[in-house]
Amino acid sequence: MNEVQDMLNAKMVVKGKSFEISHQFMKLKTDEERIIFTLNLLQEYNVFPTKTGMPKNAKESEKLREQGNAVFVSGTLQSKTCISALQLYTKSITFAPYPSEQLALGYANRSAVLFQLGLHSECIQDIDRALAINYPDNLRAKLCLRKTECLMILGDRRVENTLEEAQHWLNKMSLSDTNREKLKTKLDTLHNKSVKTVSANKEINAPKSSSLPTFERNDEVPCASSALAVKYNERYGRHVVATRDINPGEVIAVEQPYSRILLSENVQTHCSNCLEVCWANIPCNYCTYAMYCSEKCRDVEWKKCHDIECPVFPALMEYDFYNLDLFSMRLAVFALREAGGFTELRTMLKEVDEHNDPRTKGFSRDGKLHNDRYISVYGLTTNTEKRSVPDLFKRALNTCFILYFIATRTVMFGAKLPEDLSVLVKNNDVTFFGNLILRHQQIIPCNMHTFGELQGLEYTDRGIGALPFLSLFNHSCSANILRHSRSKHEVIYTLYPIRKVIR
Ligand SMILES: [Zn+2]
Ligand SMILES: [Zn+2]
Repeated sequence: MNEVQDMLNAKMVVKGKSFEISHQFMKLKTDEERIIFTLNLLQEYNVFPTKTGMPKNAKESEKLREQGNAVFVSGTLQSKTCISALQLYTKSITFAPYPSEQLALGYANRSAVLFQLGLHSECIQDIDRALAINYPDNLRAKLCLRKTECLMILGDRRVENTLEEAQHWLNKMSLSDTNREKLKTKLDTLHNKSVKTVSANKEINAPKSSSLPTFERNDEVPCASSALAVKYNERYGRHVVATRDINPGEVIAVEQPYSRILLSENVQTHCSNCLEVCWANIPCNYCTYAMYCSEKCRDVEWKKCHDIECPVFPALMEYDFYNLDLFSMRLAVFALREAGGFTELRTMLKEVDEHNDPRTKGFSRDGKLHNDRYISVYGLTTNTEKRSVPDLFKRALNTCFILYFIATRTVMFGAKLPEDLSVLVKNNDVTFFGNLILRHQQIIPCNMHTFGELQGLEYTDRGIGALPFLSLFNHSCSANILRHSRSKHEVIYTLYPIRKVIR
């Protein structure tokens, strides 16, 4: 986006309008006014979003798969080499059109690496995916035999069926196929082995998920402990205090985010929906951005937000947009879907805007802060008054690009709108939606938290989440609390003894 901004600035400088425009922008009072002003400016200076994002591409998929093959054969027995090959095969799968032979070949080749890495369940998943689509008939016996080996290792009783399937595809292979004899020998060996080991069927237990800590709940904030209270004063703004002495190590809150988003650098290795690490990710059928641990996660996220994000995120990535920008859009989509329509959302937010107690802004009508409701995010601080004109203008420009893609490439506003900024700027729903995205662009840097995970001995970031209660804690360079990421929650502990606040 820096290039776009530089181009726009250069055009304004040539016309001698730079100072005047900056002055006009400074006088704007609301985010919606900033969006309308910026859309008009883009129209006046003829600056339009044009990128399409990288679409599915069979040739690119083949190229990546061949690169994966070259890496894999160079060192089959080394884990590091296997991981490099795995990454290339996953990329090849991302780019393969759905359904296509390239996609089937990508899954089949990745299954060989997964087998080598000892990830037998994932290997079976990839084999099944390859066999379910356009995988060539003459190669199917080989895959069935690989699946048989996995099933035997896992002690799965489906071994016999898979061996029969392998025999079926072997019979169909041409007699002149040089691999036929080799595969037949392997099938016979596996068959003999299966007869001996069929009784050794193992019980496979799913890993037990660890339970969340319990504590006495707060009346006003259900995710927090009764030892806390939300306060407001001029000096600290909204903040959290102790209502009793708290011991170190006490759990004071367990918060589930209103929404989360995977960091874009993790899309090849984690699921975009549940954010868990996944060695055998499957791509979105339409874009080259999102990947999932399962068909279920893919369907869930499609209904939740990806139907709108799918044609937009890849284009944003081509403009080097950050996770913040993607998340600012996702929160707006969530808000609209939670409210059920533009009219309902306007009514819902008007109530928050007109709420005059800064301590309880974003609380629900029952007097509680519900972190699963959008208003709890909307009520967080934006620090707009502390932001400079360049800061606000850059965020407004980013928002207008996001808005343009949503309006012209999705049906968010009822139907795809024409690629004409003068039409978009006159549409109240478009400018209202832009106003929300711009608000999120300001809320996110001040309030959002990263979700972490342990990789070896290192704690690394997995994604970011909107945690409305956790955002009420003021920052300290010498913090007395610590947050720890669980699969879907953030758990907040005390680090030191904290005395009850007496005021
Ligand atoms: Zn998942
Ligand atoms: Zn997609």
